[in-house]
Amino acid sequence: MSTYTPMIQQYLKIKAQHKDCFLFFRLGDFYEMFFEDALAASRELEITLTSRDGGADERIPMCGVPYHSAENYIKNLVEKGYKVAICEQVEDPKTAKGVVKRDVVQLITPGTVMEGTMLEEKENNFLASVSEFSGNTYVITYNDLSTGETSVARVSSGWDAVLSELFNQPVKEIVVSPDLPENYQTDLRERLQVTVSYQQEYSIKEGFHDLTEQLTEDKQLLEGFGRMLNYLQNTQKRSLDHLQPARIIQLQEYMSLDMFSKRNLELTQTILRKGKQGSLLWVLDKTVTAMGARMLKKWLERPLLNKQVINQRFAVVQAFLEQFFERESIREALKTVYDLERLAGRVSYGNVNARDLIQVKQSLQNIPAIKQLLSQFENESVRSLAEGIDELRGLAELLEESIKEDAPLTIKEGGIIKDGFDPTLDEYRDASKNGKKWITELEQREKQATNIKSLKIGYNRVFGYYIEVTRANLHLLPEGKYERKQTLTNAERFITPELKEKESLILEAEEKSVDLEYQLFVELREKVKQYIPALQALAEKVSTLDVLQSFAAVSEENNYVRPTFNGSRKISIKQGRHPVVEQVMKGESFVPNDVYMDESSEILLITGPNMSGKSTYMRQLALTAIMAQIGCFVPCEEASLPVFDQIFTRIGAADDLVSGQSTFMVEMLEAKHAITQASENSLILMDEIGRGTSTYDGMALAQAIIEYVHDHVKAKTLFSTHYHELTSLENTLDAVQNIHVRAEEYQGNVVFLHQIQPGAADESYGIHVAKLAELPDQLISRASDILKQFETEQNHSGTPEKTKPARQVEKEPEQQMSFFVPEEERPSNVQTRS
Ligand code: ADP
Repeated sequence: MSTYTPMIQQYLKIKAQHKDCFLFFRLGDFYEMFFEDALAASRELEITLTSRDGGADERIPMCGVPYHSAENYIKNLVEKGYKVAICEQVEDPKTAKGVVKRDVVQLITPGTVMEGTMLEEKENNFLASVSEFSGNTYVITYNDLSTGETSVARVSSGWDAVLSELFNQPVKEIVVSPDLPENYQTDLRERLQVTVSYQQEYSIKEGFHDLTEQLTEDKQLLEGFGRMLNYLQNTQKRSLDHLQPARIIQLQEYMSLDMFSKRNLELTQTILRKGKQGSLLWVLDKTVTAMGARMLKKWLERPLLNKQVINQRFAVVQAFLEQFFERESIREALKTVYDLERLAGRVSYGNVNARDLIQVKQSLQNIPAIKQLLSQFENESVRSLAEGIDELRGLAELLEESIKEDAPLTIKEGGIIKDGFDPTLDEYRDASKNGKKWITELEQREKQATNIKSLKIGYNRVFGYYIEVTRANLHLLPEGKYERKQTLTNAERFITPELKEKESLILEAEEKSVDLEYQLFVELREKVKQYIPALQALAEKVSTLDVLQSFAAVSEENNYVRPTFNGSRKISIKQGRHPVVEQVMKGESFVPNDVYMDESSEILLITGPNMSGKSTYMRQLALTAIMAQIGCFVPCEEASLPVFDQIFTRIGAADDLVSGQSTFMVEMLEAKHAITQASENSLILMDEIGRGTSTYDGMALAQAIIEYVHDHVKAKTLFSTHYHELTSLENTLDAVQNIHVRAEEYQGNVVFLHQIQPGAADESYGIHVAKLAELPDQLISRASDILKQFETEQNHSGTPEKTKPARQVEKEPEQQMSFFVPEEERPSNVQTRS
C-alpha cells in the first residue's frame, strides 16, 4: 500500500469502510472509481474503463462519471440492487495542504433513495429490517424514507412466516444482523430478491425516543426498530425529522396470506410477467393520487378481519355509488392534490424547493372543497371522514402569502418570496426598483441635455451600468463629465460617478435581497416542518378517500355488489365472476357460477376436463373473499360470506425455480403449509394435488390430504382433481361434495361451457376427446368397454386386482383403476382416522 500515491491511499482507506458499496470518489468534476469498483462499474454502466498511475508498478483500473450527470448512473446501480457511497471533497482544494480531505457524505441504497426520479410514484419504497429472537420469533420493521412512515411487526411462527410477510411488499433492501444464519440471508436475497445490508448495533439514540412511544418498552420491538434506525443514521448522515413514530402492525388483525397465496392469487402482480397488468390491483385501481395508489396496494396486502371496520368501508362505497355527482366532484378535486406524503418527506429531508411548496399550497387549497363535498352526504361514515380532515388553513395561508406562483427551482437565486411578506425584503426591492427607475429617468435627462436621441443606458456584468453613445454623436458630448470605459466598433461606453453610486446601491440591494430570500425560505421551510405530522395525517385521509372512491368507481363500472358477512361459516355466492378474467375476456362473456358451501359441503371436490375452468372457479372465490375483506364490493349478484382468517393456495405449476426445489416438493410444501396453519375459518384452494408423482402415489396423497382436512382442519376447501376415483369420497365423508365443470360435445367439437354443476364429471370424457382426435374406432369402443367394466367392478366392491380386465390394458393398469377402496376394505390405518 505504501507505494501508492497519497490520494490512492486515501481512497483505499475510505473504500475499506464501505466494502459493499460502489465508492464514487470525487475528483474535480468527476466521480471516479478504482480497482474492482471500476471493473464492475464499467460493466454495469457500460462506461469506458481506463487506468491511471497510482504509484505502484501496475496501473490502476479506473472509470468515472461527470458529477453533474451522476444521478442517472447512481440510479442505474441502485435499481440493480447495489449501494453507492458518495465521497466528496470536504475542504476547499485551493486552501488544502497535501491531499484534499474527502469523506463519505451519503450512502444511497435501494431502500433509502429519496430522489423523485428514483422512486416509483405509485409504490412505496421500503427499507425493512429483520431481527431474530429465540422461540421462532422475529421482529420486522418497515420504513419508507420518502414518506417517513415506519411500522413494526412481530412474527412468532418461524422463518417461513417471515418470508410470507415480506413477500410482495415493496421492500428493496433488508437490514439484518450479521449473525442471521447464512441460509436465511440467502432466502432474502434469492427468494425475495432484495439487497441485504448489515447492522449490528440497535440502540435508540438521543432525540429519537419519541418515535418509540408506541413500542411501550417492548425489548424485541425496540431492538428491531433500533437496528433499522441505526442503519438509517449511518447511511443518511442527515436529519431524519420526518420519521413518524413507529406504528405496531398487529398481524393477527389481518387476514393472513402466505407467500404462495400472495403469488398464486396474483394480487398485485402476475406470476409470469411480474407486472401489475393482469393482477387484481390492476382491476381495482381507479385511484387518482399516487398516495391513494400506494394505500390501495397496502390494503390488498392486508385484508381486514374486523367486520365493523369493513362495513364502514362498505358504507362509504355505497354512499359514493348512490351520490354519483358528488363522488365525481370529489374524484376531480382529488386529482388536484399532489403527493403530500412525499412532499412532507422532502420538507424534512431538506431537499424541498419552492415549487414543492407551491404544490403543497395548491393541494391544501383544494381540501376545503373536498371536505365540503363530503359533508353533503347523508351517510354517517362519509361525514365522519369529512370531520376527520384538518384543512391546514394556517399553512395554506402562510404559503399563499409567502411564495410566488412562478418561483424557480433553485432556492439560492431569489425570485421566490412574494412582495409584502417581509418588510426588509420589500425595502431592498424598493431600493433596487427606485434605483432602476432613477436610471431610466437619467437616460431621459441625458438625452435632453446632450440632444442625442440614440443615447442609452445599458448594463453588463463586467462594467455594470454605462451610458452608450454612437460614434457619430460623440462630438455632442460635453468635455470632462463622462469617463470612457469601453470602445465598441460603432459606439463608446461611458460612466459617471453619479451613475456608479446608484449602481452600487442597486447591486447591494439586489444581493441583499437574494440573500434575504434564501434566509426567509429556510425559515419558511422550518415553519412548514412543524406541520409535517398534520400533513401526514391529511395525506392518510386523502389516500383513504381516494381508495374508497376507487372502489365505488370500479364497483359501478363492473357491476359489483355489496357482500354481507354471516356468522355461520356459510358461503353463498350467486352468479359469481372472476374479477380479472372477466376483464381480460373482452367481447366474450364470462360464465358466472354459484358457490354454495355449508356444514355439509365444507370441501368441494371439483372434477372436469383440463381448461374447463376449475382453477378459475377456485381463484374467483379467494379473490372475492379478499375483495370483500378490504372493503370493496364483489363481482356477483349476491354474496354472503364468512370472514376468513387465512387463505392458502396450492395452485398451478408456478415452479419455485429460485429456491431450487422440485415442482413436487413445492407442491408438498404448499400443502403442508395449508394443513398445518389453517383453522376452520380459513379457505384452502388445492389444484390438482398429487399430479407431480406416480398415479397411485399421488392419488393416495390426495385422498389422505382431503381426509385430513375433513377430519382435523375443517377449513373451507376447494379441491380440484383429475383423479376421478376420489369423487366417491362424497359417500364416506360427510362434508365432501362433488361438483364438476360441464363440457359438451357439439358438432364434433368439445365445447367448454364453464358451468359448475353438482356431481362428479362424466368419466368417459377422455374417451370423447380420443374420438375427436380420430383414434381408430376399434380402439375407442374397446376403451368404452373397459371403462364400463371398471364401473361395474366398483359398484360390486371387488378389488381391481382380482378382476383385472382383459390383456390389452395390462401394461399400465394403474392408469385406469379405481383408487377408492370401500370403507370395509380399507387398511386399518385408514379406518382409524380419529
Ligand atoms: P382448468 O383449471 O380447468 O384447467 P382454467 O380455470 O385454467 O381451467 O380455465 C381455462 C380457461 O377457460 C381460462 O383461461 C378462461 O379463459 C376460461 N374460463 C374459465 N372459466 C371461465 C368462465 N366461467 N367463463 C368463461 N371463460 C372461462
